[in-house]
Formats: sequence, C-alpha cells, structure tokens
Amino acid sequence: MLEEARNLFKEFKKAVKDHHEFFADSIPLIASENVTSLAVRRFYLTDFGCRYAEGKVGKRFYQGCDYIDVVEDVAIKLTKLLFNAEHANVQPISGVTANIAAFFALAKPGDVAFSLSVPCGGHISHHRFSAAGIRGVKVINYPFDMEELNIDVEETKKLAMKEKPKVFVLGASLYLFPHPVKEIEEIAKEIDAKVMYDASHVLGLIAGKEFHDPVPHSDVVTASTHKTFPGPQRAIVLSKKELSKKVDTAVFPGVVSNHHLHSLAAYVVSCMEMIEFGRDYAKQTVKNAKALAESLHELGFKVIGESKGFTESHQVAVDVTEFGGGDKVAKKLERVNVILNKNLLPWDDLSKTENPSGIRIGVQEVTRIGMKEGEMREIAEVMWNAINEKKSEEKIREEVKDLKKEFTKVHYSFDESEVYRILENFLNGI
Ligand SMILES: *Cc1c(COP(=O)(O)O)cnc(C)c1O
Repeated sequence: MLEEARNLFKEFKKAVKDHHEFFADSIPLIASENVTSLAVRRFYLTDFGCRYAEGKVGKRFYQGCDYIDVVEDVAIKLTKLLFNAEHANVQPISGVTANIAAFFALAKPGDVAFSLSVPCGGHISHHRFSAAGIRGVKVINYPFDMEELNIDVEETKKLAMKEKPKVFVLGASLYLFPHPVKEIEEIAKEIDAKVMYDASHVLGLIAGKEFHDPVPHSDVVTASTHKTFPGPQRAIVLSKKELSKKVDTAVFPGVVSNHHLHSLAAYVVSCMEMIEFGRDYAKQTVKNAKALAESLHELGFKVIGESKGFTESHQVAVDVTEFGGGDKVAKKLERVNVILNKNLLPWDDLSKTENPSGIRIGVQEVTRIGMKEGEMREIAEVMWNAINEKKSEEKIREEVKDLKKEFTKVHYSFDESEVYRILENFLNGI
C-alpha cells in the first residue's frame, strides 16, 4: 500500500513540475484565465485559509474572527471603491456560486429570465442546466443580431412585452462588444424587472475603465475575480443598496459556509494592484486584442466582427471552419504550445458543441507578462504557420519557447517576479 501511495505521490509531484514548465514555455490565450502575481500568491499561504468566518463582518457565528473581520471589511471597501458600487459581497467562491446567489436574490421559481444562448456568448450558469435552473427560473434566449454581434434591442423589447421577464441577464463568455445595458435597463424599468449583469470576463477591463461601466445601470453585477481581473479564483456580487440584504442572505447561508479566506486575503492584494496599475493593464489588454485581431485578419484568418473593428474587449474570435473546425485547430495549436479553446460562434447550432466553428482567444494573460503589439504579430504568425502546417510542429514549438523566454514575469503588480519556476525547492522538500 505504502509503495503504491508513494508512487502516486511521485506522479503528482512530477505533474505539478511539468505543468509549470509547460506553462513557462507556452503562450497562454485562454480568455477566462489569468496569472496572479507573486504578491497575490503569497497570501494563499496565510493562516486565513485554516479558519472559518461564517456570517457577516462583526456578526460571526464562531469566535476568533476579529482580524478576519478587518480583512473582509477592507475587501468590501476596496471593491466598492474600485467599482463605485453601493453594496459589495465578496464571499462567493466562484462565478457560478455568485450567479446562483443572484438568481435567488432576484427571482422566484417559475419567473422568466432573458439570457443569451450559449453560442451567442451566454454562460451555462445563465441556463437551466446550472444557476438559473437551480432557482427554477424559466430561461428565454434574447433575439440576437448576427451583423452587430449583439443583443437586438428592438426585438428584445417586443418579446419582453409579451413574456414579461423578471430578470434580464447581460454579460457573456464570448464577449467582444459591450451589451446595450442602458437600453435594457429602460425596458426593465417599464416592466418592473431587474438587470443582472455578469461581468466575469470583463471585470478587470471595467476596473481599468476600458469597457463600459454596467454598475449604474444594473441592479446586480456578478463576476469571477480571476479572468481579466487578475485575482485568485473566487467572485463578487455588487448591488444597489436596497438589494443588499437579499444578496447577502442569498450568499450566506445560501451558497457558502466557509468562503475560502486565504483567497479572500489574496483578493485584497489583487484589488490594490488593480487600483495602482489597473488602468495601464486594461488599456494595453484592449490594444493587444485589437492588434492580434488585425494581424490574424491580414494573414487571412476569418476574424469575426470585422465591420465593427473586431473587438472592444480582451477577446478575439476566429471562424476556423475552413481548417477543420475549432476542435482540430485548438488541439493542433496545443501541440505547438499555444493554449486556447474551441468555441461555439453565434450562428452555430448546439449540436456543434464538440467541434464548433470557432476558436476564442484572450490576450489578458500575455498582456500581464509584458507582451505588446509586436508580440501579437508574432503570435498571429505562429498560429498561421501551425494551422497551415508551414513548418514542422517541433520547429514551431521551439519558436514559441523562444518567444516566451523574455516573458515569464508578471507585470502591473507589486512584485514583478518570475511565477512559473518558483516551485523547485518546495517540491524537493516533500
Ligand atoms: C466563467 C464565467 C462564469 C463562471 O465563473 P466560475 O468562477 O468559473 O464559476 C460565469 N459567468 C460567465 C459569463 C463566465 O464567463
């Protein structure tokens, strides 16, 4: 038994080391990920992660929480400052958890919500398989304008008058252009419905003032804190003051008991990094996304949204049908250490989930490690060469490693350190 266990543990240690080396040598382009700074990571190791703090600041169910109260209070206050929010709850441990809480705060079983279909960018938690379904909410998809790549406001208004939804869900996972939050707010007011904006993907861009600000136009804003926002994996819920009680009870006791206090402490550090460096980071991220889209387009890729300038966020989406579809292309790129994901595009049927037409690219992480417009051009060329098999995979992989060599430190942070190869001593010690 012991020997088997020791072998498994060896396997584990090797995987941890290999994972870090693989990422050190790769171009990370998954739009929902980011790399935290060493300053943020240090706080994962604090004693906070060994404790419980159920309830609210100043009103806990266990003793020993005085200093945790200060940490959570600072987290709430920094969040309110960053987003100019009337109320903030920082306890949800992930975006889906935050969305379950939001649906509980805003809707009753049987109520109707308008959400974007998954091919149009909606997240699975906006649908019956996840958060919306858990609350018993009936979901109707928004009418979508394929030219504008956005919600069709006129058609939505007509449908809303007929279906009388209680919640309008905005925000998306494939998210190139800001949703019409002001127009939807007006429709919602007319029929006494609520606006729930899921900012998971774009929270860092909103914090850096590079995307529209949904907070004044939404009743509730939910968001993961680890996508464009470069924090630990958790989430926040912002809301209007009058909804604060509903939101807080939906979060606790609704969806969390312990709320991962080590990552709450790390989140505080990431908030401060965004207050200090967020504007420069967000600005460069959007510039990089536009530059990458332009380069891919010039090389001959079908980058979507051409007539609208391709993107206003951290994302770029490409229709790769002519190269065998998103599944084949994403796997091909993985073999040359370019990491991204296949993605349904708005005109795809759900039956294409396994091999959708598109790939989705996010540049927030390569921006954090210091890449600029010049590197975007190089990434586009690597992708073109790999997908068109212009060179051997081995050769391209070497080029990728070479390109990455200069970019292994996290920027826009308090501690601009190497983050990929910091585990060596630690792994040798166990
Ligand atoms: C990623 C995502 C979520 C889920 O967030 P997790 O933190 O992974 O639970 C929710 N909504 C949207 C729009 C997302 O993109």
